[in-house]
Amino acid sequence: MTCPHCNHGFALTWRRYLGSPTGKHQCPVCGGYSRFKMTLSYVAMVGSAWLVFFGIAFGLTVMILKGGRTPRAVAMVAAIYAAGCVIVAVLDRIFDERFRKLEKS
Ligand SMILES: [Zn+2]
Repeated sequence: MTCPHCNHGFALTWRRYLGSPTGKHQCPVCGGYSRFKMTLSYVAMVGSAWLVFFGIAFGLTVMILKGGRTPRAVAMVAAIYAAGCVIVAVLDRIFDERFRKLEKS
């Protein structure tokens, strides 16, 4: 990421990513605040990732629960949704760091 105030480049660490769910970041050099520009390509990418995830998760849920709502089946479904959220978060962070630009806020 590049600070729009001083052009300093800094990494989007997991700590920074998780600490800023709204995409607002503070430059470690000049202290200026900035936020990620909301672009159509970002909305399309995140929307597509969620659609693919929910499609796969829904299909797996139907298959798993067809055999009965046993505690093991419910735990498997919960694990699928948890894993999907982690995968989407990893993709979102990669997209934020590589393709999105910070703008002054
Ligand atoms: Zn800066």
